[in-house]
Amino acid sequence: MTSNDFSSAQGTPRHDLESSPAATVSAGPGPGPAPEDLLRRLRARGATDPVTHVERVPARAGVPAPWPPWASAELRAAFATRGVVAPWQHQAEAANLAYEGQHVVVATGTASGKSLAYQLPALATLLADPRATVLYLAPTKALAADQLRAVAALELEGVRPACYDGDTPRAEREWIRKHSRFVLTNPDMLHHGILPGHAQWSGFLRRLAYVVIDECHTYRGVFGSHVAHVLRRLRRQCARFGATPVFVLASATSGDPATTGGRLTGLPVTAVTEDASPRGGVTFALWEPPLLPPEAGSAAPVPPQAIGSPSVPPQAIGEHDDLRQVRRSALRETADLLADTVAEGVRTLAFVRSRKGAEVVAANARRSLDEAVPGLGDRVAAYRGGYLREERRELERALLHGDLLGLASTNALELGVDLVGLDAVLICGYPGTRASLWQQAGRAGRSGQEALAVLVARDDPLDTYLVHHPEAIFGAPVEATVLDPANPYVLAPQLACAAVEAPLTPADLALFGDGAKEAVDELVAAGALRQRPTGWYWRHRERPEVDLRGEGGAPVCVVESSTGRLLGTVDGGSSHFLLHPGAVHLHQGVSYVVDDLDLADGCALVHAEEPDWSTHARDVTDLSVVSVRSYVDAGPVGMFLGEVDVTSQVVSYQRRRIATGEVIDTRPLDLPTRELRTVAVWFTLSPQSLALAGVQPADVPGALHAAEHAAIGLLPLMATCDRWDIGGLSTAVHPDTEAPTVFVYDGQPGGAGFAERAYGTASAWLRATRDAIAECGCETGCPSCVQSPKCGNGNNPLSKPDAIRVLDVVLANLPD
Ligand SMILES: [Zn+2]
Ligand SMILES: [Zn+2]
Repeated sequence: MTSNDFSSAQGTPRHDLESSPAATVSAGPGPGPAPEDLLRRLRARGATDPVTHVERVPARAGVPAPWPPWASAELRAAFATRGVVAPWQHQAEAANLAYEGQHVVVATGTASGKSLAYQLPALATLLADPRATVLYLAPTKALAADQLRAVAALELEGVRPACYDGDTPRAEREWIRKHSRFVLTNPDMLHHGILPGHAQWSGFLRRLAYVVIDECHTYRGVFGSHVAHVLRRLRRQCARFGATPVFVLASATSGDPATTGGRLTGLPVTAVTEDASPRGGVTFALWEPPLLPPEAGSAAPVPPQAIGSPSVPPQAIGEHDDLRQVRRSALRETADLLADTVAEGVRTLAFVRSRKGAEVVAANARRSLDEAVPGLGDRVAAYRGGYLREERRELERALLHGDLLGLASTNALELGVDLVGLDAVLICGYPGTRASLWQQAGRAGRSGQEALAVLVARDDPLDTYLVHHPEAIFGAPVEATVLDPANPYVLAPQLACAAVEAPLTPADLALFGDGAKEAVDELVAAGALRQRPTGWYWRHRERPEVDLRGEGGAPVCVVESSTGRLLGTVDGGSSHFLLHPGAVHLHQGVSYVVDDLDLADGCALVHAEEPDWSTHARDVTDLSVVSVRSYVDAGPVGMFLGEVDVTSQVVSYQRRRIATGEVIDTRPLDLPTRELRTVAVWFTLSPQSLALAGVQPADVPGALHAAEHAAIGLLPLMATCDRWDIGGLSTAVHPDTEAPTVFVYDGQPGGAGFAERAYGTASAWLRATRDAIAECGCETGCPSCVQSPKCGNGNNPLSKPDAIRVLDVVLANLPD
């Protein structure tokens, strides 16, 4: 076995990095400069050193383990033909646990070969027991298709693996139900197809030995909560047929995977987290773009410039500009880095979050290079999703031969082009989770060579925190995948689905967990269920319509007006924000502008257009406390978790230039108010404690508001959410708490688990929030610390120093 590329287990199934190792582009002409030398030159070009940390991620040799004794010679031989000589330690450990009948989650790095951990016990069982069956669940059809290819390629007698999803022709479905022993599907198909048709699946379910849940970290928030109940419905049907399958889960690295796996399945789950796969070494730099001068033309600090790059125009600060840009933008910084690495002959891939951003990075890098050496700019290109297969192959070829040295891409590249063995990877902005970060960094590293990865921080509190706290990236993960199966907005419809499949019994209520009895009582009161001596029965002819992907109102259809083509849907909860008239809407990499949002018809009319601005909706919010679930009384400070009612109205939107973030204008909107009952975490402080800490009464609103923004920005550090999944509200005196209060709430009806996670990790969360604010180099607050891109109050008032005082008071009193 070789160990020539960073975080990749050669020879094991690697669906989570590349779909087809055969198409991989690896080595090319000539070795580039050593990563340390390259980095030294990059950081020396400006007046100030933008690098906050350099981490040497050493090469790691893999730790192989012997085949488990129960893996037959036939199975070992089949894997050997696919290049797997022996399992890695973590694969063997998870496989052994599963084979012994323990529910297990394997949570290791990208491409550490998690598939072998479940394929081994599942396939060994299928070979040993000719009647046994296996159900495999993937979050996407594409991943299931990948896995099907991997299992089919083993050519094992009698397994007959098959995908069963919305694309499966009717004619094949019956054959699959009757004859396949390894069915690959997704939670939606399980929910809409397999469980309602359980009678037809009885033969399969009765013999079900394993349920494999791949990429289980994707089941988070409300979607994850729904999937948790779909799995409980599956367990119920299996139990009716006398089967008790073992669950094997595969997850990206995350905080506390055993707890998350337990919540998802409702079963005790053992975690295997020690990654024993080999990886190449990488030099990983954290890069914070420098502060801009306070006023155009004023004194230092001077923004550093790439060799030959155009000068930085002063940031236009308009009247409506409530987001003062005080730092050089991550896009410009990434473009300069790309130009510099390409000028050094270094094969570089830059990951940028939006397609337009990727084009801006490529265009700026091209211009810089052409100014230095005319024609050099041609060696840089932008990559967007939606290319044809031949175009992708051409791009791979150009990179392989060195015609192309620099590529700026969205993460669409993950799905399309197969590239490893680059010399350097630039990551423009934290991609949201450590899993994505490592996936992107893992593109760097040619055979046997060290590589360079650079994370360029955007002006966002989380990015700021991370570049100053490398331990949050390179140490033990803290971000956990959260879900809340007790959400009544999820539980009630799922119980209704279960009742259609078979009447609910008192024993079932324990299976569905906390709140199930109350939900059943409400369904009875609403006339949906009828109680009889033998259980609760569904009263209607039709099945309930339940969408796993969210319950924020009926989804809104996005329709192209010129053709009438349905482009897709947006969940009702987000529609006001994302589909208001004038909104720029991205669909599969193509940009559309909304002409009209018809709320009565649940439909938004759009036309294709790619303006050079983005749109940002703003809302006004009111909040009242419904009940308190749990609280901590910490003297002058109180920390609470409970239900709240949030009333909000989207009232305007801003248009901002994509390249610079400059605000063009703010336009009013006329949309109705909406109400949301959800879960919130909130803290209160006594006015005396604030005064003692030196916060003047007049500054209390700005202090709380700034702390609220930063706290929302940092919550993704603790839970896999993004700041758009959560909302906040702060006030110097709230009628329900009668004290200065900061609320942070889940954006989905009934909650999604984020506020609960925030409550459970309150001191760590607020400590990180405090540090992010204190460590930002700006004077009065900026988007990197206390300003928010979705503030309903135009980021006013905000007091950065007082926010630190507020959080110090909270942290001094709150127990760890
Ligand atoms: Zn700042
Ligand atoms: Zn705000």
